[in-house]
Amino acid sequence: MSERIYIDCYAMVGKRGQKDVETPYETEALLEEMEWCGIHGALIAHWVAKEYDPMYGNRKLLHELKKSPRLYGAWAIMPSHTGEMPPPKDLIKEMADNGIRAAKMYPRAHHYFFNEDACGELLSELENHEMLLLVEGGLMYGPDVLEPSNQVLLSELEAILTRHPNLPALLQGSRWESTRYLHALMTKHKNLHLEFSANQPNRALEVYAGWFGSQRLLLGTGALDKSPGAAKAFVDYCALSEEDKQNIAGCNLARLLKLDWLPQSYNEKESDDSILNLAKAGKPLTNILVIDAHAHIAHDDAAGVGFMHQPFSDAKNMLDRAKLMGIGAMCVSSWLGIWTDYEDGNEIVRAAMRRYPNFYHGYATLQPQYVKNWEADLRKVHELYKMQGLKPYYPRTGIPYNDKLWAPWFDYGNRMNAYALLHPSPNFAAELNAIAPKYPNLSLIIAHCGGSFDTARQGVEAALKFPHVFLEITFTSVTYRVIEFMVKHVGAERVLFGTDQPMRDPLPQFGWMAYSHCTFEEKKKMFGLNMKRIIERVKKF
Ligand SMILES: [Zn+2]
Repeated sequence: MSERIYIDCYAMVGKRGQKDVETPYETEALLEEMEWCGIHGALIAHWVAKEYDPMYGNRKLLHELKKSPRLYGAWAIMPSHTGEMPPPKDLIKEMADNGIRAAKMYPRAHHYFFNEDACGELLSELENHEMLLLVEGGLMYGPDVLEPSNQVLLSELEAILTRHPNLPALLQGSRWESTRYLHALMTKHKNLHLEFSANQPNRALEVYAGWFGSQRLLLGTGALDKSPGAAKAFVDYCALSEEDKQNIAGCNLARLLKLDWLPQSYNEKESDDSILNLAKAGKPLTNILVIDAHAHIAHDDAAGVGFMHQPFSDAKNMLDRAKLMGIGAMCVSSWLGIWTDYEDGNEIVRAAMRRYPNFYHGYATLQPQYVKNWEADLRKVHELYKMQGLKPYYPRTGIPYNDKLWAPWFDYGNRMNAYALLHPSPNFAAELNAIAPKYPNLSLIIAHCGGSFDTARQGVEAALKFPHVFLEITFTSVTYRVIEFMVKHVGAERVLFGTDQPMRDPLPQFGWMAYSHCTFEEKKKMFGLNMKRIIERVKKF
């Protein structure tokens, strides 16, 4: 078997408007991180071509491409009718002359119709040359709601692919909400390919490979917003064959770009961080304790819950997945309990705890809008069922954490030195300021602090104020360098590894931390030792 070559199909370089001051953006930073992770090549596009003027940005991209033979370029293009772009034939020739192997279209951001009338001639020209077309889209919520990137609608893409069956297309930036739509699209259009930087449903690579084979799935990182190590671990740790992994890692993109040379391997040297070495080898962390501080669970044989396709989300399947990474324990709340029905939900968690003792630690769920007898419910979940965690959940109860409806539970949790996992609410800082001083013995774990540098800053502020506040990382955004940022400001003792599995596949979340630029000792604390201490201080009944 030949060496696995990794080529990232989704990285952006250069300046743009909105960017956090902490987010790296230079090509040199991308190249350094590629070497850190062992990613051999990358297909890059320039932010200026997206946000300012395509051809101006495309020329800047040519300059960036000169910095390394590991880089391949995608030009931003659009129809030529308004005289801003060369006519399709001339454009394709210019691209070929400059070694550009892929085209990217941003119809919404650039304000033109993504349909046959506006784009047909251009798309036919791409199709004739079998040049790869990149588009960003696949959010359930459509354009303009979640992201200002003005995504292509899947319905538009579907019409275009129908008219251009030989045009190789790659959908970037899709998310897990779109699984059922994407299944239909990919079933119908054999020319559609998918990358997974923002699309991280449970076992996504195995599921999509099972549906469509591995030839249409690609490694995409979303660098430098996202951690490239997260995307790499997604491929390395998944349960597919070596051949499938090679396809996804680089072979498929090499084929689509018609590469006549592959990027060279690195002169790998062993790091003194054994976690990083194991991650690069795709092996479980058997040398340290790993506890997932933020996970969920669904009923046996569940395949889709809470509006979404969500397979392999029961106790047995999650345990199997955990073994791939060496996760030795998992703190779970039931999806049902936070979502719809807390009583049934607690039964699911209890069953998992009894079946796999010491592996599953339960977060109890209580919905104040349904609780009739607090004392009876509290005794049941915490004394009888032995759940040591609390999972109050604002997004599905709409009840702020400082509302008196939660108070009996927090009081009880405070008396037992329990831990509570808090998903931030819109007014979270004020709510936390109100409850944290009242319950000094309740470990308060803020969920999703790694979502962005802004959420990390809010977490840092709270952690500096209250010694019993901890910052849990999980989010699909796998924000590049944000774990390092939190460690720098509050210390590794206050940061916790969590995945949100089985909603999110745990592999990218794992890779995000394993590939972070923290020391071995820091990673050891975040991966397990901190949560172990939090669990051990809970009073036993
Ligand atoms: Zn969660």
